[in-house]
Amino acid sequence: MDRRHFLMTAALPCLAAEDDSRYIKEARFYEKLPYKKIRCKLCPRECVIDDRERGYCGARENRGGTYYTLVHSRVCSAHVDPIEKKPFFHFHPGTTAFSVATAGCNVNCKMCQNWEISQVRPEQVRSNYLPPRDLARLAQQYRCASIAYTYSEPVIFYEYMADAAEAGHALGIKSAVVTGGYVQPEPLRELCGRVDAVKVDLKAFSTKFYQEVVNGELKPVLNALVALRKLGMWTEIVYLVIPTLNDGDREFQGLARWVKAELGLDVPVHFSRFHPEYLLKNLPPTPLATLERAKAACDAEGLHYVYIGNVPGHPAESTYCPKCRKAVVERAGFDIQGMHIHKGKCRYCQQPIAGVWEV
Ligand code: SF4
Repeated sequence: MDRRHFLMTAALPCLAAEDDSRYIKEARFYEKLPYKKIRCKLCPRECVIDDRERGYCGARENRGGTYYTLVHSRVCSAHVDPIEKKPFFHFHPGTTAFSVATAGCNVNCKMCQNWEISQVRPEQVRSNYLPPRDLARLAQQYRCASIAYTYSEPVIFYEYMADAAEAGHALGIKSAVVTGGYVQPEPLRELCGRVDAVKVDLKAFSTKFYQEVVNGELKPVLNALVALRKLGMWTEIVYLVIPTLNDGDREFQGLARWVKAELGLDVPVHFSRFHPEYLLKNLPPTPLATLERAKAACDAEGLHYVYIGNVPGHPAESTYCPKCRKAVVERAGFDIQGMHIHKGKCRYCQQPIAGVWEV
């Protein structure tokens, strides 16, 4: 059994999905056009949609000139994960996140690891009805510090995510968003008032890669990252390094300089190892030397927290104090083996360590 579907069968057996109408709610962020058309303003695609048609993501539908989300509370994957797996390394380390997804996505990455749910329509996967308050209660029952919106693209289930974040906060549970960052400024700004942390998958630092491999655009993602920092949202970046496609020295240097100039030194950057998936099964896993080259480019620019991911046991899984260089969070895979941060500061030299540490 797929591990992410375990909770769907083991923990939610009484929530069988048959009545589709309960998933359908009027969408946010769209404008009405003549002849019952609408323009979606949620992500930069700005799909213009005829009556009875859906947007690119397949999760929103025009019905008589009103736009609807089809995936509110329509959860196709649920699992309790370590927060480190998202990965968030500076947001409540050592806690778990109740992780959920609905079907659909607003891009089509050739390396997608979750294409079975991201590249299908909601009715093509088994889903369960999990309204926001029930989701928050389940997260509490499983002793999760946060709800994570992940696996597919939470921007396309925006309304559910926003409502669930509110329900979670009512029970003292935080919300962490795992996104490609392909979203319009206004919904992003509003979301930041509701959630507590955002991890952005920056898929490359090249417009060509975004056009050819992602079917999206780089610029709106960079704009979203800048906006997140300006709004004070705790933000981490993951960059999946794919052999021959986004692993050049110039790209790594460009990324490092841009992060330093636009986001500052304290935004964690995770370079993650690629494994052949979906439409890129012809490429090999990322050599360790390539990941270390990427990290070295960011280290050279002075970024404080640069990690190597999907390589269990590598020293670059741990967090080091930018001042005294001692390991302040020692990790092995997703396990925390030593925690030397007290009240947000290095226990050895009292240097503040950027992040959200106290639960
Ligand atoms: S959220 Fe979906 S419908 Fe809206 S613009 Fe993006 S892809 Fe199109």
